[in-house]
Amino acid sequence: MSRNDDLFERARGVIPGGVNSPVRAFGSVGGTPRFFVSASGPTVTDAEGRDYVDLVASWGPALVGHAHPEVIAAVVEAAGRGLSFGASTPAETELAEEIRRRVPIAEKIRLVSTGTEATMTAIRLARGATGRDLLVKFAGHYHGHSDGLLAQAGSGLATLALPGSAGVPAAIAAQTLVVRYNDRAALEAVFAEHGERIAAVITEAAGANMGVVPPAPGFTAFLRDLTRRHGALLISDEVLTGFRSGPSGYWGVLRDAGEDVAPDLLTFGKVVGGGLPVAAIAGRAEVMDLLAPLGPVYQAGTLSGNPVAVAAGLATLRLADDAVYARITAAAETVSHAASAALTEAGMPHVVQRAGTLFSVFFGAAVVDGVPDYETATLQDAAAYAAFFHAMLDAGVSLPPSAFEAWFLTAAHDDAALERIVSALPGAARAATAA
Ligand code: PMP
Repeated sequence: MSRNDDLFERARGVIPGGVNSPVRAFGSVGGTPRFFVSASGPTVTDAEGRDYVDLVASWGPALVGHAHPEVIAAVVEAAGRGLSFGASTPAETELAEEIRRRVPIAEKIRLVSTGTEATMTAIRLARGATGRDLLVKFAGHYHGHSDGLLAQAGSGLATLALPGSAGVPAAIAAQTLVVRYNDRAALEAVFAEHGERIAAVITEAAGANMGVVPPAPGFTAFLRDLTRRHGALLISDEVLTGFRSGPSGYWGVLRDAGEDVAPDLLTFGKVVGGGLPVAAIAGRAEVMDLLAPLGPVYQAGTLSGNPVAVAAGLATLRLADDAVYARITAAAETVSHAASAALTEAGMPHVVQRAGTLFSVFFGAAVVDGVPDYETATLQDAAAYAAFFHAMLDAGVSLPPSAFEAWFLTAAHDDAALERIVSALPGAARAATAA
């Protein structure tokens, strides 16, 4: 038994499925998940001492690369001053100000520890602000694992959702209406029927948890208009896209494209913690001030705004200047073009979709015309992706272990790292075709 197999066996004895988050389990690609022991720049190292060029980046946070010396120094310095005080620190305000500098519509910001908490609180705020209960979400959009957000996809027109997980009371799932993404008619129909009871629409700023599925041009502005007309709030979930798809998140990508849309609330995570647990709810001051202690909407956290985590987030955002985004953009172009060329050469139909610096590759003839929604995303060739994934892993490149994920570059992906990815692609593309 290899050391890695041994570690997994031991983990399975004490941790359900051997993992602390399900997607790590290689469930959809098969095989034994790798155990990592260290990471540096663009590289992760497994327990057997093998290096991989990393295209997961901790699922987004490692924007400037793993273990960036300035981030580590900030963390060590903060840790030396104490791990947690249960009281306010100056750095929390600095991080909130840095978020607002990048996204000025984030007038007020509350820090929490996970994206799940951020979206859960945003929804509670929307309900508190409107006095309404129903929530509209999109099929294929992930907002964390709180009860009401695990509602399953209904197809086509919105359906009153069934629980997407055991343990979610039907009465709670029934508060969530699931609509097809990028489908204006379905939204109009839902608002025509339930408009007076809808507290909010929550949307990923750009869909990135079913592969990358950006909003169609004008769709986010349409959402803003529709919600405003019906007195509902618009919540833009930038946990994944925030400060990764561009310096001002996907909000900034849209603004730069001329679609200047101001959601009432936004949520951030991942990059704002630079690899430690920080997330945020942000938005219009009038809505945000409904939070306790000013207002009646309760929210709290023992480790909210934790000083060590905030130090990592601040250091990461301070490093993330235009040059960092330019490097990530260039790296994303190199990898996506090389992947597309290799797949074409191997005869594998595919489509690459982008949202700012984020991209993913969908495999299979059924998706080549583009993926606008979850229903279409499910038509991709999962077996081809699994073969591709394992061939890349064998060649020393760690991709997300699921076809429903973005590929994450960092500013630390230098020429050597990119070359290793590019040279692994043709063999992996042939493996995908043969699968
Ligand atoms: N929203 C989005 C868009 C996400 O991608 C995620 C996590 N992948 C979450 C919310 C939940 O964040 P967390 O895992 O930190 O709870």
